[in-house]
Amino acid sequence: MVKDIYKDIMEIKKFALEKNVPIMQDDTIDFITNYIAQRNIKKILEIGTAIGYSAIMMCLSSPEVSVVTIEKDKDRYIEALKNIKKFGLENRITLIYNDALEIKLNNKYDLIVIDAAKGKNLEFFKSFEHNLEINGSVITDNINFHGYVKKNLEEIPSKNIRSLVKKIRAYIEFLDNNTFYITKYYDLGDGISVSERRI
Ligand code: SAH
Ligand code: MG
Repeated sequence: MVKDIYKDIMEIKKFALEKNVPIMQDDTIDFITNYIAQRNIKKILEIGTAIGYSAIMMCLSSPEVSVVTIEKDKDRYIEALKNIKKFGLENRITLIYNDALEIKLNNKYDLIVIDAAKGKNLEFFKSFEHNLEINGSVITDNINFHGYVKKNLEEIPSKNIRSLVKKIRAYIEFLDNNTFYITKYYDLGDGISVSERRI
């Protein structure tokens, strides 16, 4: 039986759009799947599953990829479980229902994808850095945060957004000053950073 993967992907995207689930944009996920292929990445840790879209897309990019992904929202976790089952990826995607900052993992990963609370990137990075393989990479999404990160703070009316922007800037500064990694930024989707560990 040939399964209509494309149709199932479109259904997940439609659900995300209707329910305001902030899944990765097309150019972001394209970049990441190409990156996975180029660097022969096999083991991935993702912080922020939402409904499983990016985890599924990363798995579909190569049969050798496996993903451990963490989600703290119960409804999204349940939806992700359903979606992963639909694609028959239960053996390759391990879903953890928890606050990522409340747990510690032991395994090592070739790639860590941070796509959860935008103000907590630094905490996630520090919390899971010991899980990164020696030549591993960390990709963080939403580094531009709707373009706000590049604006003057005075131009941003919302206090909450200003506070988020400050945290994202502090994260960027942390990455730029971190001599253990080389970080590049890409204006794809909502902006991503790619931090490669120096060997
Ligand atoms: N990576 C997904 C989108 C993730 S959206 C995709 O592209 O398909 C961000 C998700 O991170 C939300 O569902 C939110 O509930 C989750 N999240 C935020 N903070 C978290 C935390 N501390 N631990 C685990 N999940 C978290
Ligand atoms: Mg995102």
